[in-house]
Amino acid sequence: MSYDPNNVFAKILRGEIPCKRVYEDDFALAFHDINPRAPVHVLVIPKGAYVSMADFTAQAPGELLAGFLRAVGTVARQLGVEESGYRILANTGPNSHQEVPHLHVHIFAGRPLGPMLVERH
Ligand code: 5GP
Repeated sequence: MSYDPNNVFAKILRGEIPCKRVYEDDFALAFHDINPRAPVHVLVIPKGAYVSMADFTAQAPGELLAGFLRAVGTVARQLGVEESGYRILANTGPNSHQEVPHLHVHIFAGRPLGPMLVERH
């Protein structure tokens, strides 16, 4: 899948639409999800044109891979959820229900999150 530069997170990265920013460095931007599914629901996105985790891990330079992963950990620490715990999730591809075609890692926290998936086989 080729990268669509008009996806909503690309527009957020370019500053064309606003976001509630929680963290930014050379590699990543983190902001609150517009439709939170937990008391804490933050999205972390890499600064680069990557559709998904599959695309990112295949194409991104090592410095960006490391910087992005480190940013996810930094954001969780800054949100103060390290001790209580959190879940990270990155939907990738059709079966995952990925809606925005720019890689994003969700950070969920702030309450017991229950089992990983709703059971439906
Ligand atoms: P996905 O289903 O692709 O893993 O998650 C996309 C997420 O992006 C959803 O949780 C959705 O609420 C969030 N989202 C979609 N549009 C916007 C937006 O314009 N701003 C913010 N902050 N979040 C958005």
